Amino acid sequence: MSSGRLTGRSALVTGAGSGIGAATAEVFAREGARVVVADLDKAGAAATVERIRDEGGVAEPYAADVSDEAEVEALVDFTARTFGGVDVLQNYASNRGVVAEDVALAGADASAWARQLGVDLMGCVFTAKYALPHMLRRGGGSITNASSLVGWLPLESRPAYATAKAGVIGLSRSIAVEYGRQGIRCNVVAPGPIVSPGTEGMYTAEQTEVLAEHMAAPRLGRPDDVALAALFLASPDAAFINGHVLVVDGGMSAYAPMVPSFRRLAREE
Ligand code: NAP
Repeated sequence: MSSGRLTGRSALVTGAGSGIGAATAEVFAREGARVVVADLDKAGAAATVERIRDEGGVAEPYAADVSDEAEVEALVDFTARTFGGVDVLQNYASNRGVVAEDVALAGADASAWARQLGVDLMGCVFTAKYALPHMLRRGGGSITNASSLVGWLPLESRPAYATAKAGVIGLSRSIAVEYGRQGIRCNVVAPGPIVSPGTEGMYTAEQTEVLAEHMAAPRLGRPDDVALAALFLASPDAAFINGHVLVVDGGMSAYAPMVPSFRRLAREE
């Protein structure tokens, strides 16, 4: 069901060839936005566009590496030329190829850190840098960047990922402060565990059970859970919300860490 909350808007979604980015592109198109579906993965972007067009939506695929400033400049130009401007920017691109190299700090590898920060953080910097002038020309716009629960509740591993995702919050709030008076809103979605191609194989069966045990919801998250939160932030309903971090984690961060242990004790009584 669509209420046309993004009708007439031109949207650029990165990481839109997979998982949360793909779901966001699809939800936004359903709500009337014309969407540039950008991803490093050309086939993934094309598949998302096909699904959108099958539903009667308007979308164009674009292959780009968001860690490359020149490629991002061309991507934003393409969006503005194709759909007449840039009103909405959504950043979901993430470098999952770094996972195995993102180890405890004593073994930190400079190249792995650069690749993680290059995509997950600098991708948000570059897209905003080139989209903002278009938004300002039209009197405003909305940006949403993907952080993660891991940005402030780090797991034992993945310090580069945690740092990139914490950086996304600082960046987004800076944009909100610097450009808010000119009609720009910049918010953050911070997902907890969401079942997506990006997390496939990341957790063992035992670890998935532990994740489920730590949810204050009866299930793990789905890409649509985040896409619908992002829709709210991008829509006129969130006109007075700026610099906000919207946690989408099924309540995982809402309770004290000892609760699962207490539950286990209660079961054993
Ligand atoms: P995903 O399924 O891995 O999708 C990410 C997409 O980004 C992939 O299509 C990937 O392409 C693309 N990408 C990688 N490097 C890129 C680059 N340099 N330029 C452009 N695109 C690039 O991820 P997801 O699970 O949907 O997550 C989406 C966002 O939410 C990410 O920022 C992630 O960190 C965040 N998040 C996810 C979860 C979760 O549990 N899923 C939790 C917290 C936060 P390739 O396939 O070619 O690499």
